[in-house]
Formats: sequence, C-alpha cells, structure tokens
Amino acid sequence: MADVAQFLIIARQYEQAVEYADQMMKSVPEGMNECRAVYFKLHALFHGKMVRLSQGQLQEGVDLCMSANESLLANAMRTDMATLEIEQGRPAEAVRLLEEHYAEVQGYEYPALMQYFNVLLAKGYYRLGDLAKSRRYALATIASAVENEISEPLGQAYDLLYRIESQQGHATEALAYHEKYMAADKGYLTDVSAGALAYQAVKQQVQTKKNEVDTLNRQNQILQLQRELDHKAMETSRLYIALLLTVLVSAGFWLLRTKRSQLRFKRLATQDSLTHICSRQHFVDEAEQVLRQAARTTRSVSLVLMDLDHFKLVNDTHGHVIGDLVLKRAVAACQQHLRRNELFGRLGGEEFAILFPESTAAQAQERSERIRQAIAATPLWGETRHVVISASFGVACTDRSGYELRQLMIDADNALYRAKRDGRNRVIYGDDMDAAELEANALREAAPRERLADLPH
Ligand code: GH3
Ligand code: MG
Ligand code: MG
Repeated sequence: MADVAQFLIIARQYEQAVEYADQMMKSVPEGMNECRAVYFKLHALFHGKMVRLSQGQLQEGVDLCMSANESLLANAMRTDMATLEIEQGRPAEAVRLLEEHYAEVQGYEYPALMQYFNVLLAKGYYRLGDLAKSRRYALATIASAVENEISEPLGQAYDLLYRIESQQGHATEALAYHEKYMAADKGYLTDVSAGALAYQAVKQQVQTKKNEVDTLNRQNQILQLQRELDHKAMETSRLYIALLLTVLVSAGFWLLRTKRSQLRFKRLATQDSLTHICSRQHFVDEAEQVLRQAARTTRSVSLVLMDLDHFKLVNDTHGHVIGDLVLKRAVAACQQHLRRNELFGRLGGEEFAILFPESTAAQAQERSERIRQAIAATPLWGETRHVVISASFGVACTDRSGYELRQLMIDADNALYRAKRDGRNRVIYGDDMDAAELEANALREAAPRERLADLPH
C-alpha cells in the first residue's frame, strides 16, 4: 500500500494517495507506528492542496517519524514545513529548519531530497535578501541533480539564478539562466503531463480489464445459476416421477384389491360354498337363458331334479361332517358324467338340478341312470360303518313340458316324487300318475316345496 501511495503521489493522483494512506493507517504492522502512513497522507494533502495544513499538523508527523527512527521521512516532511513557512512569509524559520538538518540529509546520499533542501534554502535566502547564499544553494541544487533528470527543484533553481543575475545587472548570465529555466520548466511540465497521461492510460486499461473480468464473472455466475437451476429442475422432475409412480402403484394395488373382492362377491353369488357348483339363483338364471335360446330353435332340453335318499338318516347316524362329505362325494360323482355345457346346481340341502341343453327325455333318462349308478357306487366309510348313498331322479323335457322353467321344475319334481314313492334310488320320467297320485300332487302344489318357492310365475 505504501508503494501504491508513493506511485500515486508521483502520478499526482493525490486524492487516491490519501485513500491508500488511510488504509495503511488501519493496518500498521506490529512494532511500527503510523509514521509512513501519516507521511504519505500529509504529503498528498499538502501537494494536492486539498486542505490548508498547519505547521502543528506537520510537526506532529515529524515527531511521529522521529520516534520511529524514520529521520528520512521526517526530513521529507520538513521540506513541506519549510515550503509552508516561505509561503506564509517566514523565510527565516524555513532557513533555520533546513540548515539545522542539512548535514543529516547530506548523509543519506539521496539526491531528490537533497535537491529540495537546496532549492528551499536558496528560496529562503532569496526572500531574506541574502543573494550570495541564495546563489550558492541554487548552484548546489543544480549540482545535486541527477544528470538528464528533470525535476521541479532544478527549474526553480534556474529561475532563482536568473532573478539574482538580473538583479545584479548581469544580463548575459541572467539570459542564460532564463533559457535554462525555460527548458527545465518545459521539460518538467512535459514530464508532469506525460506522467498524468500515462497514469490515465493505465487507469483506462485497468478499468477495461476489470470490466472484462466483471463480465466474465457475471457470465460465470449466470452459468452457475443455470446449472443450479437445471439440477433443481432435474430433482423436481425426479420427485414428480416418484410421486406419479407411487400414485400409479397405489391405484394399481387398489384396483387389484377391488377386482379381487368383486370376484369373491361374484363367486359367492354364483357358487355354492360347500360344493362349489352353481348356486340356486345362478342355476335358475342360466337355465332360463338356455331355455330362451332353445325355444327359438325348438331343440329339446331336459331338466333333472336329484335328491339324496334318506339323507336325514345319514346325518343322524354319522353326523353332519360326514353328511357334508357325502354331499361333496355325490357332487363329484355327478360331475364325472357331465359335460361342459351342462348346468349343474345345488337347489338347497341335498337337492340338486341338472339341465341338459341338447337332450331328449330318453337321453336325459339314460344319462341320469348313469349318474345314479355312479352315486350308488361311491364308496365312503363313516366313523364306524360304511355309508350307503343313493339318490332319486325326476326327469322333465321341453318336448312335453314346454320351455318354461317353472313348468319343467313342476314336472321334474312330480317325477322325483314318484321315484321316492316307488322305492327311491331310481330315475323316473313323465307324469303317468293314478288318481291317488294326482290328488297327492294337487295337495303338494297347494303348498309348493322349497325348490319351487322362488321360481317366476
Ligand atoms: P328322502 O329320502 O325322502 O329325501 O329323505 P331325507 O332324509 O333325505 O329327506 P329330508 O328332507 O327329510 O331330510 C333332508 C336332510 O338333509 C335334513 C337336513 O338335516 C339335511 N341337510 C340339509 N342340508 C344339509 C347340509 O348342508 N349338510 C348336511 N350334513 N345335512 C344337510
Ligand atoms: Mg330333500
Ligand atoms: Mg332326501
């Protein structure tokens, strides 16, 4: 920061130099005081003519640097003090101050400072009217100048010499010094403006570079933001996909459960829970549909009602568990003799119905006979004894009964009744009944049995 401040002073950018000096003051390294910072600040303020400095302020700076053993900087500040004394009309003070430290400055071998001491002494003595001493110091200024180097004191020294020579009437010498003064002053001014120009050019370049860097930084920021945005967008869409999948899976699961319970309900409604053949209602629905179709083509359909014989006795003798087993065995025996398109349903208890969709009465009788034999041949052991199973069959056919299920049921039931009455374990078709049978039938019809209860009228 000290180097920058010094550079800025050389480039005559005093305001900025003050800023750097202020920053220096805030960060003085350990073991040092603020001497250097104060020197640059006061020097910049003094030459920038930003504020009117007092001798007191400059003296404080000098004291600070003396206490830090920075006598060179203290002496540099003394040149500002001397300048101020001369400007304020106290040349004797200036001369005293400069003479007091003259030898010390000579010891530095620092020509720039020496030049200032010399030229200020020349100026002081000139104001005091001591032209001989003034001339001596002015010449010393020129002598201490570095060859080919243009400086402010050099021009001032020539100016003084010109004035001294002209006061003393030495016109030739005066003219020679004046010419040198003009050349030095012009060179100095050129140097000053070249410095300022160079500074401005560098400043412009730095600013341009800075702008470029800023633009790049901004582009970089935009890219980074873009990347973050892309990342966020990706995360969001992943989240949506996960959400969608969850919803889909839940919906699928829910649909599956609904479908399964629907199927279960449907099965419950259409299947008998013990034997897994058609329920009563399902059998009636299906049979009516088959009959409607058959009625159009007038093909023969046969209905067979089947009732297990003395089943109550089976239950009573062997218990309900064996009773259930008998029911299942009887159903299995029937199924072995039935085809795919033939309807088989449990109407209730141990009563079953079979619908042969394409069968005459004789064919139905023959098929029933085979089923009867199969049931009778089904071997089954109860807990203690062999269970005897048989069933009775009543056959009805559309050829005689027509295509109404109700009528077919009545006729098949009558036939079944006859089978029971004639000794059970047999197949009966038709309504060849005597007077007593007809009377009994009429009585039964007045109080229809369970299997006819909910048939359509
Ligand atoms: P019939 O030869 O005249 O038909 O005599 P039956 O004993 O078979 O006739 P009934 O109608 O008097 O008896 C039917 C019996 O069937 C009465 C009931 O205990 C029994 N039963 C009805 N449903 C079931 C069932 O699901 N399981 C069992 N184990 N028995 C049943
Ligand atoms: Mg019965
Ligand atoms: Mg029975």
